[in-house]
Amino acid sequence: MNNVRKTVIIGSGCSGWTAAVYTARANLKPVVITGHEPGGQLSLTTLVENFPGFPEGIQGPDLTENMRKQALRFGAEEKHGVVTAADLKKQPIEISVGQEIIYTETLIIASGASARWLGLPSEQALIGHGVSSCATCDGFFFSGKPITVIGGGDSAMEEALFLTRFASSVTMIHRRDQFRASKIMLERARAHPNIQMITDTIVEEVQDPTKKEVTGLKLRNLKTGTVYDHPTSAMFLGIGHIPNTKPFLGQIDTDVDGYIKTRDNVFTNIPGVFASGDVQDRRYRQAITAAGTGCMAALEVEKYLEAKGE
Ligand code: NAP
Repeated sequence: MNNVRKTVIIGSGCSGWTAAVYTARANLKPVVITGHEPGGQLSLTTLVENFPGFPEGIQGPDLTENMRKQALRFGAEEKHGVVTAADLKKQPIEISVGQEIIYTETLIIASGASARWLGLPSEQALIGHGVSSCATCDGFFFSGKPITVIGGGDSAMEEALFLTRFASSVTMIHRRDQFRASKIMLERARAHPNIQMITDTIVEEVQDPTKKEVTGLKLRNLKTGTVYDHPTSAMFLGIGHIPNTKPFLGQIDTDVDGYIKTRDNVFTNIPGVFASGDVQDRRYRQAITAAGTGCMAALEVEKYLEAKGE
């Protein structure tokens, strides 16, 4: 077989592009499969203030775009598409991108994690019409209006605090009365005069798909069973993320939530297959750590190919 790649990188967030910079500079001619969210989660953010090297901060989309340009300059190839299937146990490894099959000696899975939704039909119908998973992207559209945030973790606290810049009021709805959020974030949200918290409560329906806008939420208090309407102009989800590992499930070791299990940072249970960034990291989830593990995966690909005598 003569059309076998040395390495393929799945994912075009900062982990994937960092792996591409390193493998391209090692002359391995990587191909980067961009996936369904090109640029990854940074493409959904605005100002990133904690990526070292940018004293004034940098816009998230600009940061990944710079990484992309850097990788392409050294000969990385970009393929737009979504991985629909993979056979990781074959050698060469087979990756299906729609109708096309790509063969590769090594693979870096940097497919990230995507926002979790409640899964209600009315919620899905109103995504982009008042339902959002990205406060920094969409908060501005609800200036002067009441906004509701779902969740009890750090993401929800961060979103709620951020949204107070725009909203007339922010209501947080959490399904329990215990919070996963760190103490400092929880206290900050609790102390904010414009944030109200409702606990032990779930959303049963988002109103009103027929009007193509969010007018309110039907809520249920899990302790009392009371169901009532809560008027609001927008619902922001801050209920965590789901790792993008669907094509690999059953072939590669994952934890119960589907995150790829790694040892020594980026090694999976399959020789020649490495994982980097949020798809294998549920703890740090930072742009800089994702870039860091992308670099490690690239260096391990080099070592792996060297050991094979290439
Ligand atoms: P998380 O800690 O897993 O919290 C998810 C929250 O959403 C939980 O309160 C959970 O409720 C709730 N939830 C999940 N599924 C739900 C559903 N179907 N319906 C209603 N509620 C649901 O996720 P995260 O907040 O995204 O944080 C992930 C990691 O990133 C954490 O380690 C966090 O510390 C970190 N992070 C840090 C910062 C920061 O420090 N600035 C910002 C963001 C994230 P239950 O508690 O009942 O399960």
